Amino acid sequence: MSSPNAESTAFRSALEVIRAVEPRVADAIAAELADQRESLKLIASENYASPATLLAMGNWFSDKYAEGTVGRRFYAGCQNVDTIEALAAEHARELFGAAHAYVQPHSGIDANLVAFWAVLADRVEAPALKRAQARQVNDLTEADWFALRRELGNQRMLGMSLDAGGHLTHGFRPNISGKMFDQRSYGTDPATGLIDYDKVAEAAREFKPLILVAGYSAYPRKVNFRIMREIADSVGATFMVDMAHFAGLVAGKVFTGDFDPVPHAHIVTTTTHKSLRGPRGGMVLCQPELAEQVDRGCPMVLGGPLPHVMAAKAVALAEARRPDFADYAQRIVANAQALAEGLLRRGATLVTGGTDNHLAIIDVTSYGLTGRQAEQALLDAGIVTNRNSVPQDPNGAWYTSGIRIGTPALTTRGLGTAEMDTIAELIHTVLSQTRPGANADGTPSKAKYALDAAVADKVSRQASELLTGFPLYPTVDLT
Ligand SMILES: *Cc1c(COP(=O)(O)O)cnc(C)c1O
Repeated sequence: MSSPNAESTAFRSALEVIRAVEPRVADAIAAELADQRESLKLIASENYASPATLLAMGNWFSDKYAEGTVGRRFYAGCQNVDTIEALAAEHARELFGAAHAYVQPHSGIDANLVAFWAVLADRVEAPALKRAQARQVNDLTEADWFALRRELGNQRMLGMSLDAGGHLTHGFRPNISGKMFDQRSYGTDPATGLIDYDKVAEAAREFKPLILVAGYSAYPRKVNFRIMREIADSVGATFMVDMAHFAGLVAGKVFTGDFDPVPHAHIVTTTTHKSLRGPRGGMVLCQPELAEQVDRGCPMVLGGPLPHVMAAKAVALAEARRPDFADYAQRIVANAQALAEGLLRRGATLVTGGTDNHLAIIDVTSYGLTGRQAEQALLDAGIVTNRNSVPQDPNGAWYTSGIRIGTPALTTRGLGTAEMDTIAELIHTVLSQTRPGANADGTPSKAKYALDAAVADKVSRQASELLTGFPLYPTVDLT
């Protein structure tokens, strides 16, 4: 532990230095801390990184170009970058039991692109790939992509469907992966909401993907990665897991055995800022045979590495190796389950009927609302969530029918299962008191809603009272 005043002094001094140049930036930084302290944050993908992690980013590592990898740089003078990159990778390998770790990706999307190109380079005939690499991606037309896919041979991806909780980067249209791959998705069983592994196996046999992807941003259950690997092997696919959301639960040994992706997947990607609680960034873990291609991430698909962020990754990964992180990971899940049970007891409907990870999806159609109406009403009452599709969503991807809630952030603040029950009460109060609105012509609106201001105020007050007992960044006093 650093001395009690060190963190306050560090952030106060930093703000003083910034304020002397552009006071509005210093003010916005201070305001952001104040806002985060007051917000009841149930966004499943967000967290609060430690002061040490945050401070590791604000320094002269930011000034350095370090294209290439440890010991093989395109720039001179990278010995200190080598030190921190090697350290971050070592912590990642040890923490996850991975053969190889690549810590340069700037984000989760970038980590996936690195992984996709590594698999293509590994599996596809080199001449076709060289031609693809020589062309500017932006110049390729739809017909070019089609021709390219054919030229490259089997370039198919099988991943989880968006409405079942999959991610855009798993071959969907708004992301470049949707251009690179001929994509098909597997959904969940309509009756249970769970992945039906027999259906995944059937889709794999029919479609014969080059890459089978598992991983999600909105599926509230464990995934059996041993079975998924068997399916991949049965059709000769590379098995990739995107653990962006649940990396903290893997690190904290909540997901072990069949549910730990690292021993089962050929390649694993992740963000570092969600349940893992590090700086904003990404990472790739892989089997030795993919290591060389993965290390070509920069300059293949990434710009110059961010050494200051790699320094922060090394700090956060060191934190995640400590025993208290395992305790944290267990509390995340206990809290999610308490929140889910609190909601179910009050009559809410949850996708799959509960959770065994860090998140839950409330199906708000049972309250007569769309996801958009529910999200805004909750926000009016001081509860920050995000709307999310439910499987076979009747309201589409924009309005949606779900609210995603997650516990990594509030668990970092120290809230426990008793507080989760109170939060369930607050959420249920808001949702059951919110009425759907109508358009000017009298037709039902998917966006408008009415919530009594007195109810919103009362819940909002209760939410902030709840938070006062659990100060955020208690070691940081900016006054
Ligand atoms: C959040 C997320 C990503 C993208 O991460 P960014 O850092 O925002 O690029 C990728 N995959 C999954 C499954 C995610 O949940």
